[in-house]
Amino acid sequence: MIALTPAERILKGLGIEAPSEIDLEAIAWTRGAVVNYRPLDRCEATIVGSERRAVITVNGRSPPERRRFSLAHELGHWHHHKGKMLFCGGRDVCNFANSPLDPERQADAFASDLILPNYLLSPRLRRVKRPTLAAAREIAEEYSASLTATLFKMTALNRFPIIIACYNKTKRRWFERSPMLQPWWFPLDSLDRATFAADMLFNEAAEENFPRKMPADAWFGFKGCDRFEVEEQSFRLPDEEILTVLKLPDEAVA
Ligand SMILES: [Zn+2]
Repeated sequence: MIALTPAERILKGLGIEAPSEIDLEAIAWTRGAVVNYRPLDRCEATIVGSERRAVITVNGRSPPERRRFSLAHELGHWHHHKGKMLFCGGRDVCNFANSPLDPERQADAFASDLILPNYLLSPRLRRVKRPTLAAAREIAEEYSASLTATLFKMTALNRFPIIIACYNKTKRRWFERSPMLQPWWFPLDSLDRATFAADMLFNEAAEENFPRKMPADAWFGFKGCDRFEVEEQSFRLPDEEILTVLKLPDEAVA
C-alpha cells in the first residue's frame, strides 16, 4: 500500500470513491477557492490569493481536459505555494519536461494525483491486460484526463514494463520509465528514422491500431540491445511532437 499523497488525502477526506465523483470546482470551493473561466491570452491559468481565499482563473478557450488539469494545477499551487500570485503559461501546466524540483512540476504532480489518484487507478489498472493506446484512452475518458497525463500515471504506477517518450523532430523532450525496468534502457536522444514513430512524425503515417514490434536498437543504444525486440505505439501531440509507448521485453525487468 502506497502512502496517500496530499491530493489523495483531500479526495479521501471528501469520501470520493469513483472518478466521476472528482468534481474539481466543488473541491476548490471546499478549499476556499473560487473558479472562473474566461479567455486568457498569455497563460493557461492564474491564481490570486490571500492566506485563506483564492480566485483561480482558467483559460476558457482551452479544451475541457486541459482546463481540468489547469484547475487542478492551480489547486496544487494553492496547496504548496500559498500566498503567491501566479500566472501559469502553456509550458508550465502539464509539462513533463520540467525538472521534478520545479514548483510547476510540484503543481503538476498534485494535479495528477487529484485527477488520477493512485488509490482508484491502481485497482483499475489490474483489469488492463495490455498497455495499448486504446486501453489508455478508455481510462483517460473515465477520468476526464488527457491521454498524456493518463499514460504518465500508468507508467509511474509500475504496473507494466513500459517507457513513454516524447520526441519532436530534432530531439527527445522527456521520457518516463516504469520503476521495475533496468536503468540502462534509456531511449535515444533523437528519433531513429526506422521507427514507426518517425514515420508518423516525418511522413504523416497514420496511427497504428495496435503496438507493433521493432528491433530494440532503433530505440536504445546500449551494447547488446539488438538481441531484443520492443513494441511501440505512438500518437501525435500538438506542435509537431509525438508520444510513444514502448513495451519492453521481460528481460528488461530488473
Ligand atoms: Zn503553475
